[in-house]
Amino acid sequence: MVKLKDVYPLYLNNKAEQPNADLEVTDKYTGEVAFRVAQADAKTIDAGIQGAVEAAEPMARMPSYARQDVLQHCVTRFKERFDELAFALCVEAGKPIKDSEGEVTRLIDTFRIAAEESVRMTGEVQPLDISPRAKGYQGIWKRVPIGPCSLISPFNFPLNLAAHKIAPAIAVGCPFVMKPASRTPLGAIIMGEVLAETDLPRGAFSILPAHREGADLFTEDDRLKLLSFTGSPGVGWDLKAKAGKKKVVLELGGNAAVVIDKDADLADALERTIFGAFYQSGQSCIGVQRILIHADVYDRFRDMLVAKTKTLVAGDPKDRNTFIGPMISEGEAKRLDGWIQEAVAKGATLLCGGKREGAMLEATLLEHVDPATKLNVEEAFGPVAFLIRFSSFDEALEIVNDSKFGLQAGIFTRDLFQMFDAWDRLDVGGVVINDVPSYRVDNMPYGGVKDSGLGREGVRFAMEDMTEIRNLVIRRT
Ligand code: NAD
Repeated sequence: MVKLKDVYPLYLNNKAEQPNADLEVTDKYTGEVAFRVAQADAKTIDAGIQGAVEAAEPMARMPSYARQDVLQHCVTRFKERFDELAFALCVEAGKPIKDSEGEVTRLIDTFRIAAEESVRMTGEVQPLDISPRAKGYQGIWKRVPIGPCSLISPFNFPLNLAAHKIAPAIAVGCPFVMKPASRTPLGAIIMGEVLAETDLPRGAFSILPAHREGADLFTEDDRLKLLSFTGSPGVGWDLKAKAGKKKVVLELGGNAAVVIDKDADLADALERTIFGAFYQSGQSCIGVQRILIHADVYDRFRDMLVAKTKTLVAGDPKDRNTFIGPMISEGEAKRLDGWIQEAVAKGATLLCGGKREGAMLEATLLEHVDPATKLNVEEAFGPVAFLIRFSSFDEALEIVNDSKFGLQAGIFTRDLFQMFDAWDRLDVGGVVINDVPSYRVDNMPYGGVKDSGLGREGVRFAMEDMTEIRNLVIRRT
């Protein structure tokens, strides 16, 4: 039986420190305070940033085998602490235990990929003699670490999305200050505990849950060379505007669509669509929100979806049978409940679900949703999806693109030409064929266009963003 501590420290310049314990973190199912975490004020964040500045050179000089050793150590320790990490997520995020275990597995994958990539940072030899004036010249470029990084992660994948920033930073040799989400800081704190066991140079990392006031430093301080932010579109674009000269990577939200074409394997599409729409109570940036179904199979697939949705077990996330746990807060559940009511008031039909008790919102399906309602236009970020009927593949692609977001889209089709058509024409960061938009493996390029973000994660791609190209020009005399 795993037991969490009552109080956790923050990590400042590689060391555990406990200046206070004033961040109360609740068990999202019971609503009770589960543990307390130390929070950084502006002075502590400033000290972390200064530590990162001083660590930039020693980090850049660390041989790649040493960076690989650090990442490999994390892989070993995360495996040893698997149950504790999963339980921590289950408590602090209300994430059903099976999904929590899935996230720990992905955390391990992410660090394992980073350990492999850390010894593969290559450059290129480039002939420069493209004109008579460059005769005798050639170039070689390599990647060098960009310098101190600011990493900000969201509440919904407290481990793996922090890992998608921390592991690439170590792989390339960038020191960092990280601000985990205040509602779910523990995953990153445990990572700090594991990193503190390594011999990274002092200042290489600080993991600092933070008060709102001090948090501005993560964005505005010019000593930081890159801001890598994962979170909501409103906050992300606002921070970019304040980020000054630093490079900015934004991994934001969406209202992802799945397309079920008339030739789709409906039984297979059903399982995956239900998972995409409702796993971790729909609180995934690539959760299925819009389900587009070809008119020829619409009625049949709708009935299958409704029947299956009604069987989903909701309740205590610590129970292995639970599929739907609480949303992150009662406030968020109320917000989405309001959106459902708005949609129904504007003519939508509620097919199933729709009831709320505290932070628990039933898995909900609707149809005939007015395109002008929040449920269609904004990111639902909860266990709610709605059905849209289409009559041609072209029309389906247009509906998918009719969104201010563009993260990923899923297309169930057996037609090769449609597959390439979707890949060419959908304005998104990734197209997933015969699965839901919610599909992600941790080495693939991942990120969005339009309001969904800027830049890509997926270890190798994040590593590129955390480096600059440094060129060498050689003239043969
Ligand atoms: P959020 O924007 O409320 O918070 C994200 C992080 O930013 C948290 O750590 C928060 O404390 C911090 N923050 C908020 N204001 C800040 C400020 N002024 N200065 C510095 N830090 C600040 O998002 P959330 O509710 O934690 O997460 C849900 C959102 O994240 C959803 O929109 C979801 O789609 C998105 N998300 C995107 C991805 C992706 O990879 N594209 C993945 C997961 C979640």
